[in-house]
Amino acid sequence: MVRQLAACVVVVSMTAVVSGRTHAQPPARPAPAATDRRDETLRLIGALAGDTPLVRDLQSLTDRIGGRATGSAPNERAVQWALARFKDAGVDARAESFTMPVRWLERSAKATIRGDGVEFSPAVAAMPFSAATPANGTTASLLDAGYGKKEDFDRLGAAVRGAFLLVQQHELEDVDGLFREYGESAEIEQRAFAAGVAGVVYMGSRPYNTLYRHNVSIGASNTRPMLVMEHDAAEKALRLIRGGTPLTLTERIEIDGGGAYQAQNVVAEIRGATKPDEVVIFGAHLDSWDLGDGALDNGANVALMIDVARQIKRLGLRPARTIRLALWNGEEQGMIGSFGYTKTHAAELDKHVLAGSIDIGCGRINGFYTGGRPEILPAVARALEPVAGLGPFTQIDAPIVGTDNFDFMLHGVANLVANQEPALYGQNYHAHSDVFAKCDPQQLRLNAQITAAVVYGFANMDVTWSRQTRADVEALMKRTDLEQQMRMFNVWDEWAQGTRGRSKR
Ligand SMILES: [Zn+2]
Repeated sequence: MVRQLAACVVVVSMTAVVSGRTHAQPPARPAPAATDRRDETLRLIGALAGDTPLVRDLQSLTDRIGGRATGSAPNERAVQWALARFKDAGVDARAESFTMPVRWLERSAKATIRGDGVEFSPAVAAMPFSAATPANGTTASLLDAGYGKKEDFDRLGAAVRGAFLLVQQHELEDVDGLFREYGESAEIEQRAFAAGVAGVVYMGSRPYNTLYRHNVSIGASNTRPMLVMEHDAAEKALRLIRGGTPLTLTERIEIDGGGAYQAQNVVAEIRGATKPDEVVIFGAHLDSWDLGDGALDNGANVALMIDVARQIKRLGLRPARTIRLALWNGEEQGMIGSFGYTKTHAAELDKHVLAGSIDIGCGRINGFYTGGRPEILPAVARALEPVAGLGPFTQIDAPIVGTDNFDFMLHGVANLVANQEPALYGQNYHAHSDVFAKCDPQQLRLNAQITAAVVYGFANMDVTWSRQTRADVEALMKRTDLEQQMRMFNVWDEWAQGTRGRSKR
């Protein structure tokens, strides 16, 4: 996920939408419609419970290719890797090009702190969309900006102009902490940029001096060098400043940057037997940030998608609708690959019955965000019925911005995002520590079974909903916090201007 917002989601009544058992005495279940093809779903679930290549694929993607930021050579290798996996499984798959608007990769980032009688060079990471510095670096005063609150700026006054601000962070322990950190950094950066700082340096919030990448809140329009500094060195610098030793910071940031370029999604397809022009698409993003190996975010769910396709093919199952399993690119830099798909496939979107996304690591799938569309809740419950034993599942009927359901939502396509127990997601988010061993392989297998039930269920069941109009999507924005989420992501203007999402015609 680029980021996920917890605010304002509405947990719909448990009794209305919980699939599976929450009572000792289960309620009478409706007989599944013949079109649900429950026996086939159960065979698929059984196949995914076996010793499939799922975990070996994740190990291959993370240990052999590793971090794969869009635009990098490892990312291109990952596209070829995924195509080869689908080919080996006998699944039709293709690479589909789309345009990335801006090239941004860190080549190197270095920092040296100096003061009277002290000099040290902490490990740092450039924040995505950080500006580069001149080759010989940029040197400025390093100021103690506390937690970057308004009173800290008031205390520093005019001194912040042209200075680097060192901002403290609370240790990040879980997903809730991640939400808080994102919200706070947007406010800090707004104050800092308005005050004319040279750049912001965040104290690393992760244990053991782990570095990570957080997007600069204003995205590609940022013009300043922006860093995360390993925790202990940032603390040392603050102690020195607070003890009366003024410090300077020299930053040397080298960016592989540039304008628009082509990147590729990988889209696998299992053609529908009786309604081939109707599409159920589920996806996970193939790109990751590059400090770690992108296991939780989101290699695990890439391997999951591949295994679902592989087992459908191996069993010779013929869903009614066409199933597409998509490995998106450009997600971390603004959900650009799935945006590209909605442009390339614009003429088919009326026939897209559902678009699903999985992007919160390896924690148990405990339900789905259903996008503020109560009409699809009964269908989700029905699709989950064959895996009720892996529940309970609770749907949250709210629109969610932050991963690859987003552009489908703006196009009025019914969309799901798997909600997952946080497990080790938060601490390792976009970090050096997001590696293979952080994923629970047994839970990943169970999540594959849950996903398969939903994908296969929607590919076969009768549907009662259709694509929303732009007016319907606008109404959704009015009755939920969707607009607020979009503004926080810098994607509101694109919608308002009609360059992203369903057109006004
Ligand atoms: Zn992600």
